Amino acid sequence: MTIDAISGQKIYGVKIAWPVFSGRCLFEFVGLAFIVKLILKNLSLLIKPASSACNLRCKYCFYADVADNRSVKNTGLMTPGCAETLIRKAFDSKAERIFFAFQGGEPTLAGLDYFEKFVSFVKKYYNGAKYSFALQTNGTLVNNEWAAFFLENNFLIGLSLDGDRETHDFFRPGFKGEGSYKAALSAARVMSAHEVNYNILTVVTDNVAKHISKIYNHFKSLGFYFLQFIPCFEPLGVGPGGNAGGLKDIRLTPERYGEFLIKLFDLWLFDFEKGNYISIRHIDNYIQLLAGKPPENCAMRGECGAYFVVESDGSLYPCDFYCIDKYRLKSIYDYGPFTIMPLHQEFIDDSKRLDTECKECEYYFICRGGCKRDREPRLTRNKYCEAYKAFFKHSLNDMKIIANTQRKGN
Ligand code: SF4
Ligand code: SF4
Repeated sequence: MTIDAISGQKIYGVKIAWPVFSGRCLFEFVGLAFIVKLILKNLSLLIKPASSACNLRCKYCFYADVADNRSVKNTGLMTPGCAETLIRKAFDSKAERIFFAFQGGEPTLAGLDYFEKFVSFVKKYYNGAKYSFALQTNGTLVNNEWAAFFLENNFLIGLSLDGDRETHDFFRPGFKGEGSYKAALSAARVMSAHEVNYNILTVVTDNVAKHISKIYNHFKSLGFYFLQFIPCFEPLGVGPGGNAGGLKDIRLTPERYGEFLIKLFDLWLFDFEKGNYISIRHIDNYIQLLAGKPPENCAMRGECGAYFVVESDGSLYPCDFYCIDKYRLKSIYDYGPFTIMPLHQEFIDDSKRLDTECKECEYYFICRGGCKRDREPRLTRNKYCEAYKAFFKHSLNDMKIIANTQRKGN
């Protein structure tokens, strides 16, 4: 993720800003030949201060599944010593820009003290490099104190919200099955009152896809105008529409996802044409790409980005979706400046395998095959290929017109 993506790029003449989200990290698009340069110039760290620990039991949690697939599921809370080592090495790397993003599990479980120390270490080791903070949260612990801290330190927040109460509470319950909608909404209200910058992240399950009109209108009625939708993952190694935790409301088939993308685009376009711009991350990215600018989403680059996930014990991984033993790069304690290690390079190279159909596809220039994780288990064609084809067939012309207008306007 670049700092520009965090602090806001211009699209349609207005600023957009995205926090770090569940994987599908944000990166400035640059050719791989410049990747080392990228690492030195822009260093993106996705930090897990509370490892996979969470106070909710969301039915589709991809990180619980990832953690289940490695030898140590939960590496505990990050110590101040580990945070300090990480920050010192980040500034030692001589990057021009450092992006610190926090995610979980639920990162606020590390406590406000942890974050206050983290910020104080950043100030201690600050050497002139630009830096910024983002955090993805379920909102359950966010109160006035947290919101004041976020504002004071300019954190960009991603708040997880799966739609209206019924849908959200079904998918995002607590330990005892109680819903978390009320807490998430309270977090939104507190953050709005403190003028914290935040966006809404929604996981697209079959249920959300089916009810997207209702959900989109619900978000608008609450004044949420910065939205991101990510398709629900199948557990590692399972195909689309597979068991997905065994719940039929979760399974997202390519057909349903395609219907969702089209419906959401039509809702968005209707508002856009009336002058009501709602920022939806994947649509913003496609239009940006068509306007000749790099997408900030690595899933739209055609190859994986080069960033580092830092688990709470200091272990490094190449991507949030692959924090498993096979891809453990090293530990922050025995790692020098942040550069691409051979295993990391292998991980990136794997993502460049191009499926035969993609090679000949009329939409490859905009689709670029999508996220590597959606091309598992054999890294062939994307699970949602049919959804993308249907979406582009439906919306590409309109997006091109908007992109052209944008190009002329800039
Ligand atoms: S698998 Fe690759 S494309 Fe997908 S989120 Fe990870 S780095 Fe990005
Ligand atoms: S639409 Fe399908 S075939 Fe075309 S580039 Fe995307 S994943 Fe490949």
